[in-house]
Amino acid sequence: MSDAEQQVVKSFPVIRKSDERRQSAAIADTEQARTAFSWEQARKRLTGLPGGGINIAFEALDRHVEAGHGDQLAIRWLGQDGGRRDLSYAELTGEASRFANVLAEYGLVPGDRVFALLGRVPELYAVALGTLRAGLTFTPLFAAFGPEPVRSRMEIGDASVLVTTASLYRKKIAAWSDELPGLKQVFVLGQDAPEDCIALTPAMASAEPESTVHATTEDSTALIHFTSGTTGRPKGAVHVHGAVVAHAETGRLALDLQPGDVYWCTADPGWVTGTTYGIISPLVNRCSMIVDEAEFDLDRWYRILQEEKVQVWYTAPTAIRMMMRAGEASAADHDFSALRFLASVGEPLNAECVVWGQKVFGSPFHDNWWQTETGGIMIANLPAMDIKPGSMGKPLPGIQAGIVERGASGVEELLQGEIGELALRSGWPSMMRDYLHEPERYAKCFDSGWYLTGDLALCDSDGYYWFVGRADDLIKSSGHLIGPFEVESALIEHEAVAEAAVIGIPDETAGEVVKAYVTLNSGFEPDEATERSIRGLARKRLGPAVAPREIVFRQTLPKTRSGKIMRRLLKARELGLPEGDISTLESDEK
Ligand code: ATP
Ligand code: MG
Repeated sequence: MSDAEQQVVKSFPVIRKSDERRQSAAIADTEQARTAFSWEQARKRLTGLPGGGINIAFEALDRHVEAGHGDQLAIRWLGQDGGRRDLSYAELTGEASRFANVLAEYGLVPGDRVFALLGRVPELYAVALGTLRAGLTFTPLFAAFGPEPVRSRMEIGDASVLVTTASLYRKKIAAWSDELPGLKQVFVLGQDAPEDCIALTPAMASAEPESTVHATTEDSTALIHFTSGTTGRPKGAVHVHGAVVAHAETGRLALDLQPGDVYWCTADPGWVTGTTYGIISPLVNRCSMIVDEAEFDLDRWYRILQEEKVQVWYTAPTAIRMMMRAGEASAADHDFSALRFLASVGEPLNAECVVWGQKVFGSPFHDNWWQTETGGIMIANLPAMDIKPGSMGKPLPGIQAGIVERGASGVEELLQGEIGELALRSGWPSMMRDYLHEPERYAKCFDSGWYLTGDLALCDSDGYYWFVGRADDLIKSSGHLIGPFEVESALIEHEAVAEAAVIGIPDETAGEVVKAYVTLNSGFEPDEATERSIRGLARKRLGPAVAPREIVFRQTLPKTRSGKIMRRLLKARELGLPEGDISTLESDEK
């Protein structure tokens, strides 16, 4: 084992999968599938449009209705205040068609960009799929954004249409909407609309529930997604209809999505996860989706898992850590026996969380890695694979990954066991096609046939990938390269620690030293004794060179609204530097 490998690879016992589990997955033998795989074959599993085109909404809806599954539940919506609404595949297709017809009625055509600023309400799904069906471009925005982040994204994205509610419109948009030259129409949900807006409910009611799917091709623009803004100003990544081949296939392979499954993705469609795996992939794979309008609430989540008999659940480390913080006892009275597959994305998943899943839900959490830019899951712990807790897993069939170094003479691949930048061989269907208005930045992502991700990782001798950190977050201390994740994971092993964020701060002798911000589990005091005890464990696990020099306690850590810890903000504050773009900042405490 290389030094780096010893440092990064966790010594948790491997979680083995049974033969029965392997056989029930889409692919039982991952290695064999990797050799046999082709994206052409994956494309053939979809239907396609007459004439050879492809359209995301058609694959998600119409083809299932045409195949006789119109009555199957597509969406079960659980309202914040106890309301419920079920939509079958036929009904959702009808609603999407109505919205497509409304767009046409108001003269909106392919090339126009439809932005949605909505909570997780049923209409959001009809708007997304109706827009795609009509060949226009869809961009979801997170409803909790303030006026400024909404405005800047609509400006960068040249929005032509906005769908929102009257209240969100008045609060966040009315003051400046006439300053957006390209904005042609604002639709608001409900019967009544503010001046200059169209009430969507009557418009939908009088529209026909049938429409022709626009003849999009694999290169037609479908979606614009803004990145999470964890490392700086959000970028607008452009995606095409051909991406649906990867949306479908990655859901089938990495999330174990099978027709008829009850599936719950907890991400908001305002983020790429909530669209790719909270709308498109589950519908294309003919699952029945749970959509919960409410925010995270432990009891509510446990109740949904139990009562709705969720089989496949896709969530995020921040939620898993909150559950762990509440303790096993709060999960004890529930029946989670329907759960078959648990997955996590968005941030590194600590080994403890993986194992905790096994203990509490009877299945480990399967970590997977991807980015807004990649459009779909790239590296994953597949259902049939043994899990090394703390590892992101292996590249999916159809995806070739490497650990590389950028040098003067191009990109060089590193050896197994070395830390470098995670790179992917270009050419899978859901890769972004552009960063809006940032061609140079886009071009810089590619070199020598590789797409360079900006994340640092290591591949071990069994071909498992381990996340080390974002290139920007890496700490260089006395000649050591330290990834924040390994330090944070060691801190979380301490019984008092709920969450941790680690940064490097300048130091005259060491270059940088490690500083940790920590939130505590209930029942622990933020005092010197606790600090000493945490520091003791960190030194034991990591050695004195890597263990934090300083540990400070916080009530909360600064996070993006999608739950990612914003280390750059801690660092900026530490150094008294400007905070940069904080449009996606959620909870915070200086
Ligand atoms: P920005 O690019 O605006 O700074 P962001 O990178 O957080 O924001 P996303 O595209 O939403 O925006 O997130 C992708 C990033 O999230 C990855 O590059 C990686 O750093 C992190 N990530 C996602 N999944 C994992 C995972 N399983 N393990 C570790 N990190 C992950
Ligand atoms: Mg990014």
